[in-house]
Amino acid sequence: MERIPHYINGRKVADAERFGPVFNPATGQQDKEVALASGARVEEAIEAARAALPGWRATSLAKRTNIFFRVRELMNERKAELAAILTSEHGKVLSDAEGEITRGLENIEFATGLSHMLKGEYSEQVSGGIDVHSVRQPVGVVACITPFNFPAMVPLWMIGSALACGNTVLLKPSEKDPSSAVFIAEIFSEAGLPDGVLNVVHGDKEAVDVLLEDPQVKAVSFVGSTPIAKSIYQRASERGKRVQALGGAKNHMVVLPDADLAMAADAAISAAYGSAGERCMAVSVLVAVGNIADDLVAAIKERMATLKIGPGTDPASQMGPLITAEHRDRVAGYVSGAADEGATVVVDGTQQKFDSDGFFTGVSLVDHVKPGMKVYDDEIFGPVLSVVRVETFNDAVQLTNENEFGNGVAIFTRDGGAARQFEFEIEAGMVGVNVPIPVPVGSFSFGGWKSSLFGDTHMYGPDSIRFYTRSKVVTTRWPDPSTSEIDLGFPQVV
Ligand code: NAD
Repeated sequence: MERIPHYINGRKVADAERFGPVFNPATGQQDKEVALASGARVEEAIEAARAALPGWRATSLAKRTNIFFRVRELMNERKAELAAILTSEHGKVLSDAEGEITRGLENIEFATGLSHMLKGEYSEQVSGGIDVHSVRQPVGVVACITPFNFPAMVPLWMIGSALACGNTVLLKPSEKDPSSAVFIAEIFSEAGLPDGVLNVVHGDKEAVDVLLEDPQVKAVSFVGSTPIAKSIYQRASERGKRVQALGGAKNHMVVLPDADLAMAADAAISAAYGSAGERCMAVSVLVAVGNIADDLVAAIKERMATLKIGPGTDPASQMGPLITAEHRDRVAGYVSGAADEGATVVVDGTQQKFDSDGFFTGVSLVDHVKPGMKVYDDEIFGPVLSVVRVETFNDAVQLTNENEFGNGVAIFTRDGGAARQFEFEIEAGMVGVNVPIPVPVGSFSFGGWKSSLFGDTHMYGPDSIRFYTRSKVVTTRWPDPSTSEIDLGFPQVV
């Protein structure tokens, strides 16, 4: 069986005391196992990152920039290879996998602008003969802990900026689909990144605990579920580390009565069921305002019947399997429980049969959902769309704002004034206007509000430069050159 190694100090290390199973979700077979790091293994990787820090910090911005340009070229050349790895371990369809890599590469493109981003500020003559300038310096060794659902993109969200700023990195990817992290680390090595600057350690809580405890680790970037994000934030910040911990979501898509019905229905389908709903920006609640609800539910139901579900390697598939059998069963539990809670199950995809041992499920639509039902309150993270019917715009805003999460939201309308008011009032970090999944481009930053983010800086883009650097302010005074014992020809200052 293929064994997925750590990548420490430029070397693959596959021996371990514990291993975790890695499945192909489309076949249900365990094809690989991943080495799970012990505390000692994590310490070894931290030491490699610590030792590599002075050299990388001193590497010129020009040399660092060239590495990012080369990484971009290599990743584009090998995109199909990486996409195949993503599909084989995560299950998403190949076009989604390629899309994920493209979006991740935006962060490498952003990193090529590092000499602009790391510029400090200068104030001349703040007092007689005194100037002040600021510089941005790396924080040191950074731990990046990532979830299963974007095994290439989320690591790239973090490592691009962390490395650009002169830090060294320990990447701890999800143990469910860990190969892409090693693939990415090898690409960076091939592009010229020195050994020890980017290390990959696989593992579970045991490995993460060491990253949180070790005083050499100065900053932690985390993306995952809300309970783990909250605990990572508390534990790492207690130890004086910088932390940004992005959590789960329950993204609402509000559809006003004047919306373009076909546009809204198409958007709901792709945003709720794309990547089997395993996206932190997936739409999971459709808020139908006023009299549009019946037509909208009918239009979505009609489109659901045409969705092709199958292995991600089949170009005809529009949706692949879920990540594990346990997760598929958990998702099914929400749909079967929804009717008992008083909701109307319009389409129960969990009953769909597949001629495969893979972790497939069909797509589900649940109407007349209300807060207080589990199908509304919990993050399901599967292809289940709940419809909440409300009377007015204000009801839709109130419902969305009262939800625990605040990652992404969207409004569908033809009314610019209503959209503007929505943007003004809504409590979420990312807002789409007739755009169902408003993931910001790499030149902005990504982050939610409320229980979707613990910390104060968002991920990637300009916020990441602040997160991965410390600012230093230098106040300078030089002796008056006219008083020099060597006559330099300066006029006497009176
Ligand atoms: P998860 O929280 O189970 O795991 C995330 C990471 O934490 C993994 O590397 C995992 O190994 C580690 N981990 C798990 N349990 C741990 C523990 N007890 N102690 C320490 N570390 C632990 O999340 P997941 O299931 O891999 O990913 C799905 C979740 O991530 C969803 O909730 C989704 O909304 C969220 N997510 C959020 C965003 C965002 O940007 N807000 C993006 C992607 C995914």
